[in-house]
Amino acid sequence: MNKDEILQMLTVKDATALYAEADRVRREYVGDAVHLRGLIEFSNACGRDCLYCGIRRSNRSVQRYRMSVDEIFACAKEAKILGFKSLVLQSGESAQYTLDEMCSLLRRIKQEQGLAITLSIGEKTRAEYEALKQAGADRYLLRFETSSEKLFCELKPDSLQQKRMQCLAWLREVGFQVGSGIMVGLPGQTISMIADDILLMQELDLDMVGFGPFIADPTTPLGDAGSASLDLTLRTLAVIRIVMKNVHIPATTAMGTIDPEGRQKALKAGANVLMPNVTPTQYREMYQLYPGKPGLKQAPSDTFDTLVRLVQSIGRTVADDAGHSLKILK
Ligand code: SAH
Repeated sequence: MNKDEILQMLTVKDATALYAEADRVRREYVGDAVHLRGLIEFSNACGRDCLYCGIRRSNRSVQRYRMSVDEIFACAKEAKILGFKSLVLQSGESAQYTLDEMCSLLRRIKQEQGLAITLSIGEKTRAEYEALKQAGADRYLLRFETSSEKLFCELKPDSLQQKRMQCLAWLREVGFQVGSGIMVGLPGQTISMIADDILLMQELDLDMVGFGPFIADPTTPLGDAGSASLDLTLRTLAVIRIVMKNVHIPATTAMGTIDPEGRQKALKAGANVLMPNVTPTQYREMYQLYPGKPGLKQAPSDTFDTLVRLVQSIGRTVADDAGHSLKILK
């Protein structure tokens, strides 16, 4: 699909038919089962200063935490008992854990729990990615955030777009299933940029597309910028599904934050994955990339049940496999 066609879909007057088509493509290519990935936000320590992010380095109002490797392992164990087949380990970006610590944790989770593991821990060296893959991580999420170099520079003053793209190439080379994506509704972002973002996702031939609405956090320099609308978010989602077909696309927490029905609506407009938060309750309040995240006080088991009910309420089923990339079906 070319840029004009993508733009046309993104800006169609009434999006009802667009959502229906995305839902049809989702059913045909990835089926009715929704994959649940347990999300562990294991540290909010971060060395970067991304303008949009609530846990950016210079945000002094954030109390920093770092779960111990044993705590992370215990959390993975609980997720396994709850019924999860796959985990996402996410954190800020910093060298708070040694490579050996991370690798031994991954080996332990793999050997003892047999869970599929996705990492979302930012930019690393190729050698580090290789070691993490060897230790048992299956997938890696690293959003390119925006394809516009100008916007990227403005929003991520201490990162280089070229480096992030290099990281995505390395992740692929060392054998990860790769997920990337954007935030929609970023201050300064145009519809034309979103169309370019979608073309880039296609070019990267991603296994997973993780994206969500930008939500203004009052403790950041972008506190006064308006948050994204659910309408733009769902349009983008639907177009990504129609263009990319057999990728995994989560209905992200941020979608459920801007609208209480956001995740249900997303599942009906192309999404097929949910990422219930299984982070121990005492840490959740400290991991706020943006404000208003639902379920901050919920225990992991409640979160799991809530999302199973959510899936069932829209006539879908919960998948009973690990939900690996549909592009590498073995
Ligand atoms: N630090 C790691 C992973 C954690 S951040 C990394 O940078 O890859 C996970 C994602 O949260 C980011 O990629 C970004 O797209 C999203 N995010 C951060 N701040 C946000 C905000 N204010 N609103 C919506 N999404 C946000």
